[in-house]
Amino acid sequence: MNGKFMATPLTQNITPDREPLDIKQYQQVGGYQALRKALREMSPQEVQQTVKDSKLRGRGGAGFPTGMKWSFIPMGDDAPHPKYLIANADEMEPGTFKDRLLMEGDPHQLLEAMIVSSYATQADVAYIFLRDEYKLAAHRLKQAAQEAREQGLLGKHILGSGFSLEFHIHTSAGRYICGEETALVTSLEGKRAIPRQKPPYPQTCGLWGKPTVVNNVETLCNVPHIINHGAEWYQNLSRSEDGGTKIYGTSGRVKRPGAWELPMGTPIREILEEYAGGMQEGYTFRGLLPGGASTDFLVEEHLETPMDFDAVMKVGSRMGTGGMIILDDKTCPVAMVLNLERFFAQESCGWCTPCRDGLPWVAHILQAIEEGRGQMEDLEILEMHTQFLGPGKTFCMHAPGAMEPLQSALKYFREDFEQHIREQHCPWRS
Ligand code: NAD
Repeated sequence: MNGKFMATPLTQNITPDREPLDIKQYQQVGGYQALRKALREMSPQEVQQTVKDSKLRGRGGAGFPTGMKWSFIPMGDDAPHPKYLIANADEMEPGTFKDRLLMEGDPHQLLEAMIVSSYATQADVAYIFLRDEYKLAAHRLKQAAQEAREQGLLGKHILGSGFSLEFHIHTSAGRYICGEETALVTSLEGKRAIPRQKPPYPQTCGLWGKPTVVNNVETLCNVPHIINHGAEWYQNLSRSEDGGTKIYGTSGRVKRPGAWELPMGTPIREILEEYAGGMQEGYTFRGLLPGGASTDFLVEEHLETPMDFDAVMKVGSRMGTGGMIILDDKTCPVAMVLNLERFFAQESCGWCTPCRDGLPWVAHILQAIEEGRGQMEDLEILEMHTQFLGPGKTFCMHAPGAMEPLQSALKYFREDFEQHIREQHCPWRS
C-alpha cells in the first residue's frame, strides 16, 4: 500500500463476502481483551482519560472529542441512574456506508466497544439505534449479543466483576432526522422524532431525562484498540493532529468506489487516485462533497487537503462522515443539488418553519432552473435562502447542513446555473 506503514485496527477482521468472526474466532484474534483489561486493571475514569488522551473525535460527522463528551457524564455515588449509552447506527447520510460495513463485518468489535464505553461512563443500559434497512447488521448483532451473553460478557456481573449492562437493539422507524442525537432520544422514548433544544446536552439530560452518551458506531469501534494499545499508539496511526485512522468512502464515477480505513489526514487526492483508482474513462473530475450530502463542495484546487476535521474546515467545508460523493463533467450540478435538496426537504421533521417551508421552496426553485424555467433573480433568492436557513436560524442543523452543498454549488458552479437560465434548458439533456 504505497510503501507506507498501514495499520487498520477497525477493519482488520473484516473480509468482504465472508461471514463475520463468531465469538470464539473473535477471541482467538484478541477480541474481548480490552474488556478484560478495562474491567480488571482500570477504573472507569482511567478508561475515560485514555480515550481523551488518544484525541479520538466523533466519526458521525461533527468531530466532537469523545473523551470530553464522556467527561460530562455525572459520575460517582450521587450520579443519577439509570445512565445510558447509545450507539448511533442510524446511518442515513447520503454517500455514507462505513458503519454498515463495521456492523456486518465485525459485530463483536462494536459490542465489545459498547461494553467498554458503558463501563467508562458507568452506563446501566446500552442501545444500538439501528437504521431499519440494515437487516443483515441487525441479524448479526443479535447473534453476537446472544453469544456474548452466553459467555458472561454481557448482562449481570460481566466477567465476574461488579459491572452489569443491559443491552437492546432498537430499529429506527426510518427518518433521517432520527440520526440527530436528540431526535434519536425522543424517538427511542416512543415519541415523534423531533430534535430538542441543546443545551442541555444528552450527557446530562438524555433518554428519559437521564445522563446519556450517544456515540457513532465508527467512533465506538476505536475504543477497544485504544485500551489495548494505548493513547500514544493510537495518535501515531494518524497523519494529522486528530488521532487514529478514518474510514473514507467514495461514490460516483471513480474506477473503484468503496471504503478504506486509512490514517486520519490522508490527502483527498491520494484517496481518490490511489485507492478509488481515479476517474472512470471518459469522465473528468469537477468536484466532491467530502463527507456526505450535508457538506460544502470542494474542487480541484482543494485536492491536496488532508482529510481531517480541521484541514477540511480550513478550506471551507467539513470532513463530515468522510463519505465522499464525486461530481463528474457528465452530471449536471444543478440536477445533483436538486436531488439533494429534495431529499433534505422530504426528510425535514417539520418542527420549525424555516426548515419545513424553506427546504421545499429551495427545491421548487432549483427544479424550475433545472427544467429551463428559471430567472437570474432566482439565484439571488437561492443565495438568500442559504442565509435564512443557515446556522442559528433553525432548531437543529438539518437545514443548515442542507444549505452547504447549495451555497458551494452557487459559488463553484455558478456558470452552470446561469447557462440553464440563459439557454432555458439543461445543457446536459439532449
Ligand atoms: P453537534 O456539533 O451539535 O454535536 C456533536 C456532538 O457533540 C453531540 O453528541 C453533542 O452532544 C456534542 N456536543 C457538542 N457541543 C457540546 C457541548 N458544548 N457540550 C457537550 N456536548 C457537546 O452536531 P450534531 O448536530 O449532533 O451533528 C451534526 C453532524 O452530523 C453533521 O456534521 C453531519 O455531517 C452529521 N450527520 C451524520 C449522519 C450519518 O448518517 N452519520 C447523518 C446526518 C448528519
